[in-house]
Amino acid sequence: MPKAQETVLEIDLKSLEHNYNYLRSKIAPTVKMMAVVKAFAYGSDSVAIAAKLEKAGIDQFAVAYTKEGENLRAGGIEKPVMVLHPQSHNFQNIIDNCLTPSLYSKHILTEFIKTAKELKLQDYPVHININTGLNRLGFAAEEIDDVISIFKNTSAVKLVGMYSHLGASEDLAEKEFTLSQIGKFKEISEKIIKAFDHKILRHLCNTSGILNYPEATFDMVRTGIGLYGYGNSAEQDKILKPVGTLKTIISQIHHIKAKESVGYNRGFIAKRDTITATLPLGHADGINRIYGKEKTAVLINGKDAPIIGNVCMDMLMVDITDIDCKEGDQVIIFGKERSAEKFANNAGTISYELITSISQRVKRLIID
Ligand SMILES: *Cc1c(COP(=O)(O)O)cnc(C)c1O
Repeated sequence: MPKAQETVLEIDLKSLEHNYNYLRSKIAPTVKMMAVVKAFAYGSDSVAIAAKLEKAGIDQFAVAYTKEGENLRAGGIEKPVMVLHPQSHNFQNIIDNCLTPSLYSKHILTEFIKTAKELKLQDYPVHININTGLNRLGFAAEEIDDVISIFKNTSAVKLVGMYSHLGASEDLAEKEFTLSQIGKFKEISEKIIKAFDHKILRHLCNTSGILNYPEATFDMVRTGIGLYGYGNSAEQDKILKPVGTLKTIISQIHHIKAKESVGYNRGFIAKRDTITATLPLGHADGINRIYGKEKTAVLINGKDAPIIGNVCMDMLMVDITDIDCKEGDQVIIFGKERSAEKFANNAGTISYELITSISQRVKRLIID
């Protein structure tokens, strides 16, 4: 690994490939895999990640919003790309970029069909989202008969996939809830399958779903966080490899006396004579204020350096009193040597939020 000279997010595509192969090994060979590359591939680089996965044999991609799908197409990605959360004003761009909309309400379904008819499209492929308890997006069970007849009455679009999303697949204390979601999805999807002659792909599991409910993989799984190296359990985290490593360097070291303060609003008051290091990244880079006030720590020469006081926009300060280090030394915020999950959990949040928050100001360095 190269030594950082500034703040960088290293993106290790070999680790991505390892995670991909591991997750593949957890599903039957006939089950397809959809890589979720929304939010800049969880804060990394969506085109670099998608291109690597396409080469490795991924079947499909998913993004949250249309613009993210357009970026994949502009970057040369050719496999099917599903847009999880399309809105009416996106339809033209979805069609122009051969993206697959996931339709989740009667309103959005009829609007999309209207557009498809106006453009004289035939059998444009779409998926539907079925609400089985997350209560976020998706058709209710009571709407399914209407949905079936809407599809039967048009040749402009073709139902090629249906899915639902698990709300607590990582939490085994909520097993009963998850099993009820799986049961509902099975029942509703079987009804839909019976109503049509052609093959309709079924998909339900996210990463934790694959790992905790292997009996529910259906025809395809949608995996995000696992590909990026986090499995939502200590056991899986040992096997998966973090793809992104956020590194920086020590810009300046200060020796301060007991009772002196550090940073805005005097957020840290030294209890003893203290040595501090200032690092060139702050909340504008995605290290939010919740990580300050000693809630969590960065890694310097193998040791924990707590983040002290309030995180500034462009900088943060850490306590290095007990660490042998100098200006210019490397600092690991999270990644290979230090789990993003742990860094985030210490401050009361989750790896998903931490890694997707790393702002576009931080340089991305692709390693393959
Ligand atoms: C984000 C998302 C996923 C990916 O979930 P992971 O826990 O990251 O694997 C899958 N499906 C839907 C609908 C999503 O919104």
